Amino acid sequence: MVIDYGIHVAVTNLTEDLVKEIPKVLEAGVSSFKLFMPYRKEGLMSDDGRIYRMLEESRRLGFLVQLHAENNSVLELLIERYVSLGKLSAEYHAKSRPNFVEGEAVHRGLALAAAAGGNLYIVHMSTKEGVAELSRMKKLYSNLYGETCPHYLVLTDEKYLSPKGRRYIMSPPLRSKADNEALWEGLANGTLSTVATDHCTFTDAQKDLGKDNFTKVPNGVPGTETMIPLLYSEGVSKNRISLNKLVEVVSYNPAKLFGLYPRKGTLNVGSDADIIVFDPDLEMELSQENLHSRIDYSIYEGIKVKGMPVHVFVRGKPVVYNREFVGKKGAGKFVPRGKHQPLN
Ligand SMILES: [Zn+2]
Repeated sequence: MVIDYGIHVAVTNLTEDLVKEIPKVLEAGVSSFKLFMPYRKEGLMSDDGRIYRMLEESRRLGFLVQLHAENNSVLELLIERYVSLGKLSAEYHAKSRPNFVEGEAVHRGLALAAAAGGNLYIVHMSTKEGVAELSRMKKLYSNLYGETCPHYLVLTDEKYLSPKGRRYIMSPPLRSKADNEALWEGLANGTLSTVATDHCTFTDAQKDLGKDNFTKVPNGVPGTETMIPLLYSEGVSKNRISLNKLVEVVSYNPAKLFGLYPRKGTLNVGSDADIIVFDPDLEMELSQENLHSRIDYSIYEGIKVKGMPVHVFVRGKPVVYNREFVGKKGAGKFVPRGKHQPLN
């Protein structure tokens, strides 16, 4: 690793004996646990009881439950329906996971959190329905948080109709312009607390495993290097969010929620000097050639941005200088995290 990192525990099984081990995990500096509502066939799915049990413990012990919110049985049914009709192109990935598949699951997760008194963070939210539900429930119960990702803010499901539509296959899928706008609005008004990348890259050759069948396409898209320029150009420059809000949703809020504050997430005496130097006037057309990821394409190919990070420092040492990587393999350290800190 060349930057500092932490890890989450993915909870794919839960017994009362395992629950008793949670304090040891917290002592090891891991204070967030991810649960999946979908992915039954992959063995990752958590049912409502398991989610509720983890939420109960999150309140008692002060950790954060991260939830991937999609209704598993409905999306499984729709996938089987499209497959049986021979509808296997990339657009049916999105059609098998319509907005209500997320909206219903978000509602259920929030209701369970409020009932258990737990700390819940819904990862990678993509729909206006999800945002509306989060906004409604936050008025009734406080420790509820939502994250979205650059691709849900900037791209739409039209991408699935392109010849390389499979490059854009991730779950939940890309949505409509109206969803993009609801997510920006959710960031601006504080309904959503963070933007994260959900960075998970596959090369064209790997995506091609599902060339003739969307169910065989590995899920995930790149996003690390492009997150800040997209949030700045599409968000700050278009007056959807302020510059302070940008910093809040990528740095301050995540540091607090995930127990890193004040070591990270602030410029202060005694804090780590993790700093981006940003040039608001630097213009660039995003493409695979001028980005640094080893992946052989960019999902943002052709999008023009104005404003790019030029230097990146980790604990005061340059990792990127003048847009060139100057870091060292192994210089990144595991950061033990403390308890989840609620946002006001
Ligand atoms: Zn997920």
